[in-house]
Amino acid sequence: MLIFKQVKGLQKHLQSADNKLKTIGFVPTMGALHKGHLSLIKQSKNECKLTICSIFVNPTQFNDKSDFDKYPNTIANDLEMLNDSGCDVLFLPSVKEMYPNGFTDTTKISFGFMAETLEGEHRPGHFNGMAQIVEKLLRIVKPNKLYMGQKDYQQQLIVRQLIKKRKLNTQLVTAATIREKDGLAMSSRNVRLDKKARKVAVEISKTLKKVKSEVKRQKTEIESIAETGRKRLKSFKEIDLEYFEIRNAETLKSVVSKREKMVALVAAKIGGVRLIDNMLLS
Ligand code: AMP
Repeated sequence: MLIFKQVKGLQKHLQSADNKLKTIGFVPTMGALHKGHLSLIKQSKNECKLTICSIFVNPTQFNDKSDFDKYPNTIANDLEMLNDSGCDVLFLPSVKEMYPNGFTDTTKISFGFMAETLEGEHRPGHFNGMAQIVEKLLRIVKPNKLYMGQKDYQQQLIVRQLIKKRKLNTQLVTAATIREKDGLAMSSRNVRLDKKARKVAVEISKTLKKVKSEVKRQKTEIESIAETGRKRLKSFKEIDLEYFEIRNAETLKSVVSKREKMVALVAAKIGGVRLIDNMLLS
């Protein structure tokens, strides 16, 4: 696997006679890699001739400085995992490389309600920072396909809009969430959970599953099913629930009819670690 820390070197490699006609699959990450990331790389390898992964912990998408400071860095392990996965290229830029003119050098896009609700409400500025870095990366790598996880449900909806609004020539592929054996969604932040927090963290996916089967039975109103989910999670004293909502899976607006495609989305802090998860309900 080749590693590039600078845009110039990466682009020279991608434009070389050997590579310029190859289809490119791109997997942007913030490192602390796990099997969820690897599943994206695997899918890219199956569908594209050249797979590029990036590791960049983007300062502009962290609204909470301590979350940024504590974001796990396991670069030696990441390199080993990427080598074993057969990833062709790693782009590993510095903050200066990605933001040569400081943090305010791109025009903001308005994503409207979709970026203001749920994560947008609880992490102000997060999606602006995320869109800023994803656009920069897409303009550098110019991938045919971009691979992202359903785990970050709202993120992939916003990136879909970003691609459309900026007329970027890339196809977004959203891949299923990879989970631990007990159902906990894999996340780089899981390593920060202590034993007790890890044990109770499983209740997030358990609640999503319960809500999903309740919606399938169609016996009660959607909002009251969401309320049972909320109550269940709040009943664990270790869980500090931020939101548990059932929304339209495409617009994230409130559900008006049970015939809509729906998604349940949740965010909670457990032992000081913020976790998110979601499940499509239909
Ligand atoms: P991150 O490093 O957390 O920014 O994630 C990089 C990419 O991996 C994003 O597109 C995430 O949605 C995706 N991802 C993170 N966790 C998982 C998971 N458990 N299963 C599938 N994809 C994931």
